[in-house]
Amino acid sequence: MQIDNINFNNKKVIIRVDFNVPLNKDLKVTDDTRIKAAIPTIKKVIADGGTAILMSHLGRPKGKEEKYSLKNIVYKVEEDLGRPITFVNDCIGDSVKNIVKKSEKGDVILLENLRFYVEEKNGDIKFAKALSELADFYINDAFGTAHRAHASTSVIAQFFPNDKCFGYLIEKEILSVDKVLNSTEKPLTAIVGGAKVSSKITIIEKLIDKVDNLIIGGGMAYTFIKAQGGKIGNSLVEDDYLKLALKIMEKAKKNHVNFLLPTDTIIADDFNNNANTEIVNITNIPNGWMGLDIGEKSIALFNETILNSKLILWNGPMGVFEMEAFQKGTVAVAKALAKATENGAFSLVGGGDSVAAINKFDLGNKVSHVSTGGGAMLEYLEGKQLPGIAAILN
Ligand code: AMP
Repeated sequence: MQIDNINFNNKKVIIRVDFNVPLNKDLKVTDDTRIKAAIPTIKKVIADGGTAILMSHLGRPKGKEEKYSLKNIVYKVEEDLGRPITFVNDCIGDSVKNIVKKSEKGDVILLENLRFYVEEKNGDIKFAKALSELADFYINDAFGTAHRAHASTSVIAQFFPNDKCFGYLIEKEILSVDKVLNSTEKPLTAIVGGAKVSSKITIIEKLIDKVDNLIIGGGMAYTFIKAQGGKIGNSLVEDDYLKLALKIMEKAKKNHVNFLLPTDTIIADDFNNNANTEIVNITNIPNGWMGLDIGEKSIALFNETILNSKLILWNGPMGVFEMEAFQKGTVAVAKALAKATENGAFSLVGGGDSVAAINKFDLGNKVSHVSTGGGAMLEYLEGKQLPGIAAILN
């Protein structure tokens, strides 16, 4: 059942949103991306004449802790939604039920932090049932927690066998990954970077069965270079993964995947923005120096492949982009993605630091989709069944 095909008139609709936003020490919201991402679904429900009951977690409270109260973010939700909302200082029980009962068409109610109850994370069925009793319909629009089997993200769905759906945000997240992994359009290019081979190994293995081009950058590249006999100086390396790195390259060859590693690298004599730097061939890094970004030749090589692609997936930076001296490679990839998208390619930026990077360079709105869910996106890309998704589909 798709949200666009449902009329929520006169329905009490409980929506799992992800309002786990960062707060500063004055308890003000410092980044409202996640609140904004939930607005289309809330607006659909109230425009139809339903009541939107919003539930979320915030932080990792141990019991009831004021600083994790969702009342802190009410002002921001009202600002982003453009209308007042009602905050309830609990999420289950008779007082909440009464407020919901008295609510009118078009009202928006925000419940208190679900994680004030340990039952939420434990996936407690009684707690899920108590939440379900507030509503006639359940929407899951919290992609960031879709990989968790919590009461509000998956267990609750069983109480709405025929009255549940994804919100717009999850729908878009799923469609984007499915488009990249299941489309027959070619070439499909994946760019994987970041610190370690070990944390991306499952995803790399999965991608080798799908992609035409696999670009490896960032700290993990040096493990592949060393595995082939290159000299990598003091660059990041995982010696336990050298054999596996070779195996992956063999598999890429067998699958006719164009496996691209950087050819040159910016080396530094210290892990520091003000370190001395040089550009060298990536297979010949002197002792005492470490590779912290890709060089111009690698940028040109990666650009060419990216600009020729129809589908592009990017996860992980090309260098230590947090330092200005080593951000060039990551900026170049972000720009290449933007250009390819402008030329008609579909581009998805998913998971952790590449999302931070593309936003840092203000290019988030120049790619087709930037995922809101770090861990959830990675698990979905790896082909795992996410409990929050399965609960709606089954
Ligand atoms: P990940 O969370 O695995 O995507 O890794 C992201 C981190 O990898 C960022 O904090 C980068 O600074 C870091 N990184 C990228 N390239 C390198 C490199 N060549 N050496 C050390 N760290 C790197």
